[in-house]
Amino acid sequence: MDQLSNPSSYEMPSSEEAGQSILPETVGKFIKCGHTLHMLCMLAMYNNGTKDGSLQCPSCKTIYGEKTGTQPKGKMEIYSVAQSLPGHPDCGTIQIIYSIPPGIQGPEHPNPGQPYTCRGFPRFCFLPDNEKGRKVEKRTTTFLVTMLMLHINVISLLTQHHSMVTRLDLCLSARRQVLELLKVAWMRRLIFTVGTSSTTGEQDTVVWNGIHHKTEMMSNLSGHGYPDPNYLENVLSELASQGVTEDCLKP
Ligand code: NAD
Ligand code: ZN
Repeated sequence: MDQLSNPSSYEMPSSEEAGQSILPETVGKFIKCGHTLHMLCMLAMYNNGTKDGSLQCPSCKTIYGEKTGTQPKGKMEIYSVAQSLPGHPDCGTIQIIYSIPPGIQGPEHPNPGQPYTCRGFPRFCFLPDNEKGRKVEKRTTTFLVTMLMLHINVISLLTQHHSMVTRLDLCLSARRQVLELLKVAWMRRLIFTVGTSSTTGEQDTVVWNGIHHKTEMMSNLSGHGYPDPNYLENVLSELASQGVTEDCLKP
């Protein structure tokens, strides 16, 4: 909140390497939004956050870098189903199946070295498909569109992802786009996290991480079913708040 013409009131953290010093007068400019900030203020903001390789402009909230989460290893599978969802009579359904096995918490989790449990897996989720998307899938005559494994090596997954985006490019629509963005969120480990379930109160368990999924197909007993005319729009804004936007799908 200081004037940019005055030095930053933050100091260089003593933990930073010698020779990497930033002067208190140095001002930086965010590339996309153009907002300006003292570099030492920017560094303090990063060090006081989750340090996940991303930074958000404090003026306009634009996200820089890639925000990643702590979702444990698992599998995301995508299937096409002919049956329509309530409220979407004109198209079939995309079924996503998330499978995560129990494991031991890593340093990024609340209790490193302790086990985590996985309740209610595999979790089945549903999205409306569209006319175009279904036609392409029929031609490929395969029920299984794709399967993504989350390994330590994220680079190979990204390669796999990009080739898939190209292949499905022709059938991208608002509905398909949600699926593509969920794949990006999965690879960035943002769909689930390890924590306390607000439904069951159980600790050290795998829980949803703020990107809402529809887990009921033909009923709506939990409130996480159809019809819900605002769902696609809501999930797009939840994805955006994690830095997953249309821009992530551009080659
Ligand atoms: P949570 O209860 O901590 O909630 C986190 C987020 O997930 C919240 O935004 C919440 O609105 C949403 N959510 C809660 N229930 C949901 C559901 N059924 N479908 C879609 N979203 C839901 O998260 P959690 O513990 O990961 O999810 C709780 C759900 O997981 C339960 O409703 C249940 O379906 C399932 N579960 C099953 C078992 C089992 O043994 N079968 C055990 C625990 C949880
Ligand atoms: Zn900005």
